[in-house]
Amino acid sequence: STLTTPSSAAFALHRTDHPVPDAERAAALASPRFGTVFTDHMARVSWTHADGWADRRVEPYGPLQLDPATAVLHYAQEIFEGLKAYRHPDGSVWSFRPEANAARFARSAQRLALPELSEADFLGAIRALVEVDREWVPSGEETSLYLRPFMYASERFLGVRPSLEAEFLVIASPVGPYFAGGVKPVSIWVSQQYHRAGAGGTGAAKCGGNYAASLLPQQEAYAKGFEQVCFLDDRTGTQLEELGGMNVVVVRADGSVVTPPVSGTILEGVTRSSILQLLSDAGHEVSERPVLLDELRRDLADGSVTEVFACGTAAVMTPIGRLASDDFDLVVGDGEAGPVTMRIRAELTDVQYGRAADRHGWMHRL
Ligand code: PMP
Repeated sequence: STLTTPSSAAFALHRTDHPVPDAERAAALASPRFGTVFTDHMARVSWTHADGWADRRVEPYGPLQLDPATAVLHYAQEIFEGLKAYRHPDGSVWSFRPEANAARFARSAQRLALPELSEADFLGAIRALVEVDREWVPSGEETSLYLRPFMYASERFLGVRPSLEAEFLVIASPVGPYFAGGVKPVSIWVSQQYHRAGAGGTGAAKCGGNYAASLLPQQEAYAKGFEQVCFLDDRTGTQLEELGGMNVVVVRADGSVVTPPVSGTILEGVTRSSILQLLSDAGHEVSERPVLLDELRRDLADGSVTEVFACGTAAVMTPIGRLASDDFDLVVGDGEAGPVTMRIRAELTDVQYGRAADRHGWMHRL
């Protein structure tokens, strides 16, 4: 592990007087519903243009009081991250490549004209929060503590210019297995009407606005009976980009693997790059190049593409069983989870949960 030890010690601890009672926490950990229950504390650092980052602290989890004129409520100057803390068999708690999330957070901040937060503060905040709320990290199979770092423009000011004040927080929520009854393929609607990102836009940043814009296409796909949307590039409408919250990867019958390149309009997934590494370690030929929809349709129809999957922190890897749009409706392979998808998924989760050797130095103890 190459990272300089982040100083969680720099964070002052203001402990809550009203922690969630043990029995209630145990119940929440036993069957967590994603994103509905939060731990007792949150980490926080405040920024002003004049003084920079200051007041590093961990404080009781609770509502934020915002003036109605707070900049973020009007101009959406906001970014976030998502990563998990995993409990290993010996009880220790680890995060997966958190420095990659710190780096992406810094890139997102730059694109949204928010102040850059150092890697040491990003990691220090996570460590400080997990230190005090360690009992909230569940230990059941495929459970974890989801960590949500975010930053927003907190200046009370109506005007379109970068905020002179910002808040950075980390909150945490216990999560259960994404696939409770075993990994299940999803159906995907390819949107030919809406785009997620455009050249020069914010597609490569993890900003709230991108997700707001994906809700209507998602809702329409859902109404048609599909679970997720895949977006195409906005210039030609011929290339697959990604789903609303996951990258997409194609596995060919000859074992080679293709995924859209990181070209400024997709989010550079930490799961994506880790999976590409594991695939390449396992001898698969991996190429990051445009995936043409027409080509994919042909290759699915004639069997030269055998698996397609989506990947991201939440679900790790999700097999795609059906791909459809206005003018086609195709089953991927036999519609079930494919062997390459399932093997690499097991390899990655074995590293994350401490069941296999961490050959790439991805795990960091919290
Ligand atoms: N694309 C988008 C649009 C996402 O929101 C996410 C989730 N962060 C991903 C891809 C996957 O990224 P990661 O593997 O880092 O979770």
